[in-house]
Amino acid sequence: MIASKQTVSAYTVHMLDGDVVGMRLTQAQAEGYECLTCKTECGQGLEAFRPVGNIPNVSRVFCCVACLDGVR
Ligand SMILES: [Zn+2]
Repeated sequence: MIASKQTVSAYTVHMLDGDVVGMRLTQAQAEGYECLTCKTECGQGLEAFRPVGNIPNVSRVFCCVACLDGVR
């Protein structure tokens, strides 16, 4: 996790499947730096992360493959 970006706020996330979900996320998660579920840092290995939605005026948000596979 990114220590300097752990401020938690409420965000409205527009999921790729069309759902609009209110979530409480850290700044790092909202800005697409960390997995939405486990807070693993997105970074070099971007292929291990998939976009799952976006927050208008903020960023796309990502989940790591491990979490996505765990969900399915
Ligand atoms: Zn994850």
